[in-house]
Amino acid sequence: MRIGVLALQGAVSEHINMVKSLGVEAVPVKTAEQIKSVDGLIMPGGESTTMGRLITKFELENVIKERISEGMPVYGTCAGMILLAKRIKNYEQFTLGILDITVIRNAFGRQIDSMEVDLNVKGLESPFHAIFIRAPVAVELGSDVEALASLDEGVVFLRQGNVFASAFHPELGNDPRIHKMFIESVEKFLNK
Ligand code: GLN
Repeated sequence: MRIGVLALQGAVSEHINMVKSLGVEAVPVKTAEQIKSVDGLIMPGGESTTMGRLITKFELENVIKERISEGMPVYGTCAGMILLAKRIKNYEQFTLGILDITVIRNAFGRQIDSMEVDLNVKGLESPFHAIFIRAPVAVELGSDVEALASLDEGVVFLRQGNVFASAFHPELGNDPRIHKMFIESVEKFLNK
């Protein structure tokens, strides 16, 4: 199994290290060929407008969409979640238009740059210590989107079939349970 981390901009090496800590191969990916060669793709946090521009510039939109429609698992964190969404409430910008959610960018107010919350996550037995950095939330979820964790402001971890998204950054802590959940879905995809 090989996991790719989209390496156009943002927190790439942290995801690679977390996946490797679970004994799974992880590589940075930047080209269509590389995206075709992995079994799962992580879209990291960073700046969603910049990353969106680079996806367009390097013509990666179609290959990412094709792999998702083939069933390849994808996990977007923070800016990655914004890029996967169909609707953005407070900005006009490029997205891949995959997740049937409305995203509110910087949903916790401009003054709150980052925060840490012990979050109850569906499928995990104890709370996950979640780090949020100028994070978005999801609202108006379509009927095939499952909310896996929520705060008062909205949904912060969710899944729509083979696509996962979190508003927080599990790659920044040392708790691998969210990455493990994603890797288990890649295992299922490979064994189909
Ligand atoms: N605020 C950023 C954006 O809107 C996301 C921040 C992050 O990825 N940590 O793109």
